[in-house]
Amino acid sequence: MGAPPLLRTTVRHTVTPLTPAISEASARPAVHEHEVLNPATEEHVATVPATSAAEVHTAVTRAAAAQRVWAALAPADRARLLRRFAVLVDEHGERLARLEVTEAGHTLGNARWEAANVRDLLDYAAGGVERLTGRQIPVPGGIDLTLLEPVGVVGVIVPWNFPMPIAAWAAAPALAAGNAVLLKPAETTPLTALHLARLALEAGLPEHLFQVVPGAGDVTGEALVAHPGVAKIVFTGSTRTGKHVMARCADRVKRLTLELGGKSPSLVFADADIETAAAAAPMSFLDNAGQDCCARTRVLVQRTVYDRFLELLAPALASVVVGDPADERSQMGPLISRTQLERVRGYVPEGAEALRGSAPDGPGFWYPPTVLTGVRPDAPVATEEVFGPVAVVLPFEDEADAVRLANATDYGLAGSVWTRDIGRALRVCGAVRAGNLSVNSHSAVRYWTPFGGCGQSGLGRELGPDALAAFTETKNVFISTED
Ligand code: NAD
Repeated sequence: MGAPPLLRTTVRHTVTPLTPAISEASARPAVHEHEVLNPATEEHVATVPATSAAEVHTAVTRAAAAQRVWAALAPADRARLLRRFAVLVDEHGERLARLEVTEAGHTLGNARWEAANVRDLLDYAAGGVERLTGRQIPVPGGIDLTLLEPVGVVGVIVPWNFPMPIAAWAAAPALAAGNAVLLKPAETTPLTALHLARLALEAGLPEHLFQVVPGAGDVTGEALVAHPGVAKIVFTGSTRTGKHVMARCADRVKRLTLELGGKSPSLVFADADIETAAAAAPMSFLDNAGQDCCARTRVLVQRTVYDRFLELLAPALASVVVGDPADERSQMGPLISRTQLERVRGYVPEGAEALRGSAPDGPGFWYPPTVLTGVRPDAPVATEEVFGPVAVVLPFEDEADAVRLANATDYGLAGSVWTRDIGRALRVCGAVRAGNLSVNSHSAVRYWTPFGGCGQSGLGRELGPDALAAFTETKNVFISTED
């Protein structure tokens, strides 16, 4: 399996240095480029130049100018341009998907869905441009209006696990609300972002309105967060980095959305359809090789059906097809990097009691689907985000015990409840601390419903009907009607 020839070249992007800007970031040792590897083969794919702090400054200056042009356009024209961008993403869907397979090891099926998700996000956001309305509030002696103004330049910092959709979750509504976007992809996965920026230009969005600034987190990301010209940061990544970014935003009282880690539970009650719950369990934590912030990695099963559940889970796990992500039959590909592989291995004790699937040998960062049983609920693998194809199954006694176990984490991103009792489903959804819950399913993120976490999983919400408003400043205007 090899990368398409096109990718074997150095990819150039077009941010040119200007005045050395801000900050301590410019004092850091410069990393001039990042190598992109194919995680399924470890082959070189591309070398992408890194953006220095000075180049970030240039990009922000240009973005601010482009934003003024963009915000002055008629809403219908902005919407039309975003729809054109969506059409181009659709036309380039297969190319974007293949890039994602090559740089991130996503299965082709997932990658095609992800490219389509970007298209749909742009379409959905375009529909919001002309619906982004303020309010008229009754007051004595005049009229009171709220105006929803764009915040200006938005910095979007993205991890490597879902490079395309996560970029678009923030970029599409931010653009639709009249802002400019500077997108910093993860070091290992910049290629789809760079391609999207080219498509934005081709669609006719003003030059520099949507720029991609690849580079290291502690240089390029840091410069973006610290820059006074960036009005809002949307950060998706680890809780550890997210806390650091939050502290840097606090220095400037900068707006911030955080989408961080998770350790999501799936609660399977004895009255559930156990066959369906067991059949659905593997892909609830194996999708994207478990590198999914919403992965249901803590499967909590009522003790009376625990053995039966494991009996059903074993063949379901063994049947998951792990292999070449470019093969349409594959359901799971490799991990992103050797570092990630070592991290995942470190969580699984030698000789642990486990159900396992299979994974290819040889080059590539492969780890087999793994379900650990007989694990203490407070073991690191049961409490920390592994970010690999590893889950634990833990028994619980009753509803109160299930809720206690589900909430025994600092995270609060997602979860699933399996029961035929509608009252229990609603009670448990009320009691589990998480931003996104599903009943009798492990539903995926939908662009038209809100998404985000509580606790150490994040701050704020993305997507859904209010997505554009998160990129606006509310200005209140009172107009006196007195003589
Ligand atoms: P990470 O925190 O290491 O990096 C995320 C991004 O932040 C990268 O682009 C990185 O270059 C940048 N960065 C690093 N240091 C920075 C700094 N000092 N200033 C500014 N930017 C900096 O995370 P990762 O390992 O790439 O991604 C995996 C994590 O992302 C997991 O914890 C996962 O749960 C989380 N995640 C959360 C969601 C969600 O929506 N809640 C979605 C996907 C991934």
